[in-house]
Amino acid sequence: MSPKHIEELYDAVIVGAGAAGLSAALGLYRSDAMQALRAQGSEPKILVVSKLQPLRSHTGSAEGGIAASLGNVEPDNWHWHYFDTVKGGDWLVDQDAARVLAQEAPQTVINLERSGVAFSRTKDGLIAQRRFGGHTREFGQEPVKRAAYSADRIGHQILHTLWQQCAAYGVQFAEEWYVSDLVLDETCSRVAGIVAYDTHAGTTHAIAATHVIMATGGAGRLFHTTSNSYDLTGDGMALALQAGLQLEDIEFMQFHPTGLAHTGILLSEASRAEGGVLRNADGEAFMARYAPEHKDLAARDVVSRAMRAEIEAGRGVADPKDPLGPQDCLWLDLTELDAQHMRAVLPQVVQTVEDYAGLDPSRDYIPVKPTAHYTMGGIPTTLNGQVYTWSDGERHIVDGLYAAGECACVSVHGANRLGGNSLLDACLFGTRAGAMVALRLLDRPAAASGVDPALTEALDAAQARRDAQITDMLATTPPDDVETSEQPTDNAYQLMADLGSVMESGVAVTCDNASITQALHRLEADLEPRAHALRTHSDARTFNQEITAIWEARHLVELARTMLAATSARHESRGSLYRTDFPQRDDTGFLAHSMTAAGQTPLWQPVHIVNIEPGTRAY
Ligand SMILES: Cc1cc2nc3c(=O)[nH]c(=O)nc-3n(C[C@H](O)[C@H](O)[C@H](O)COP(=O)(O)OP(=O)(O)OC[C@H]3O[C@@H](n4cnc5c(N)ncnc54)[C@H](O)[C@@H]3O)c2cc1C
Repeated sequence: MSPKHIEELYDAVIVGAGAAGLSAALGLYRSDAMQALRAQGSEPKILVVSKLQPLRSHTGSAEGGIAASLGNVEPDNWHWHYFDTVKGGDWLVDQDAARVLAQEAPQTVINLERSGVAFSRTKDGLIAQRRFGGHTREFGQEPVKRAAYSADRIGHQILHTLWQQCAAYGVQFAEEWYVSDLVLDETCSRVAGIVAYDTHAGTTHAIAATHVIMATGGAGRLFHTTSNSYDLTGDGMALALQAGLQLEDIEFMQFHPTGLAHTGILLSEASRAEGGVLRNADGEAFMARYAPEHKDLAARDVVSRAMRAEIEAGRGVADPKDPLGPQDCLWLDLTELDAQHMRAVLPQVVQTVEDYAGLDPSRDYIPVKPTAHYTMGGIPTTLNGQVYTWSDGERHIVDGLYAAGECACVSVHGANRLGGNSLLDACLFGTRAGAMVALRLLDRPAAASGVDPALTEALDAAQARRDAQITDMLATTPPDDVETSEQPTDNAYQLMADLGSVMESGVAVTCDNASITQALHRLEADLEPRAHALRTHSDARTFNQEITAIWEARHLVELARTMLAATSARHESRGSLYRTDFPQRDDTGFLAHSMTAAGQTPLWQPVHIVNIEPGTRAY
């Protein structure tokens, strides 16, 4: 669906229609400020732009649950959730943000339920909750059931519910429009709008807006083995870099322990929460040696590293689909679960194993390996979603620019996110960003501020540059009598596959200076020049997916460089980042967020400690 016409100036443009983007739209529409604006007779102009039809957003694949200390199944308390989040993130979490996350989680889940999310229920009709790695009671004493779930399809429930609510409010969407530019003023202190490419019509639009909320999701496609869908190419983060902004803690990429061999497709942590166990080639349930208390439900980085250690010790297994291939998998054993119960609570896991591995999880061991899953770092924001830059020891807000969800870094996940905390982050901080924009509109209606000629000029210039680039990128069809040897030999898909392999050997699960340097070298010598030279194979403008694939490949390459720069500068191991050359956490040198702009080495921003002093992270 495309909007009938583009307004001269929008009050808010939301980029992305997953949990964060849709929550932002609803946060705006449902806010008291919006009611006040309407009472004054003003109807803000709002547009949600998404490169996918909204219901295809990756949020729909979330499986296991959303964390909140509802205490429906076992006693729970937000202070424990807060503590677990800080500890889970290896103390790189901003504690003021984690407090908001834990404190407002129960209301966020209740609001989702009231909007229509069909949660699984306890016998008493309460929202059911299950265990998830790293969630405990009494500050780490024992695991607690904190993840509210809907079988193993919580994301599907949340995405459809939010989208239906948006439809009910009459939110306007530009679907399958690709945002190619984020435009700021000259000093990076105010937002001008975006440039978007309508993939149906093959035309660009300069869209002026006083407020832009970026909600473009993660960047798992940086790696070859990933649970992320094909669209998760870190566009929003790359657009921020190109606009001159920094990314925060971008060196932290979470690897989920149980990606199905061969495909990387996620087998939810819920499978271990329901009793599944990881085993090595000897059949040993090895997690008991690495995390005696929490075993298979220790935090994800701990389990992924234990798996890597088992494989390096020669106790890995080969994927049965490739029996002579590398022994780089381990077994996930679900055979102890009651088969009927497994089908009821893990239908998605069962179906994935049957369809993609041809195995029966009630009888067969399942080959799994760590899979790139979640981008902890991102566009830095305040607690209300306002984007800022860090310089001279201070935060500088970019007027009108917001971010939420996986592309953002409000810093609730630090160096490692706990399961169930990201849907929560996206819904909660998405809503807060939308509500904040509504408040700002009440203060300063767009109509009153009018169109700023300098900003319009910047926007028009960006559109002109983009149009010229598209013309340059499109293959020119050779005349009939000429051989077609001029066709480009390279393509965006091959480039992304090669980048995935480079990043995998460079920084996946563990790394050191040599592996980072090698990856940087491959980037500079091969991938960057190739990304620059990419051209399409057809000159069609309409429905030509190669155009957006080229932009996605370029975004990934740009992001990879920034991730490698930040990884290279952090001389310690913390959470998901394990450097074999700096195996210890170093709170004296690096209890700080990396703030990295394109082509720069990071600046360091101190972590906000409220009341939980850094301690030992053992499970
Ligand atoms: C397989 C899987 C299972 C998961 N399970 C859980 C779980 O059980 N619990 C949990 O808490 N978390 C889970 N997560 C993580 C969680 O689902 C995500 O972090 C969260 O849904 C991200 O929401 P989002 O709105 O930020 O991004 P997304 O849902 O990824 O949406 C991104 C949106 O941005 C749009 N977009 C991107 N680039 C552009 C562009 N250039 N122009 C226009 N639009 C653009 C897309 O069209 C899309 O609408 C899981 C993730 C995966 C991959």
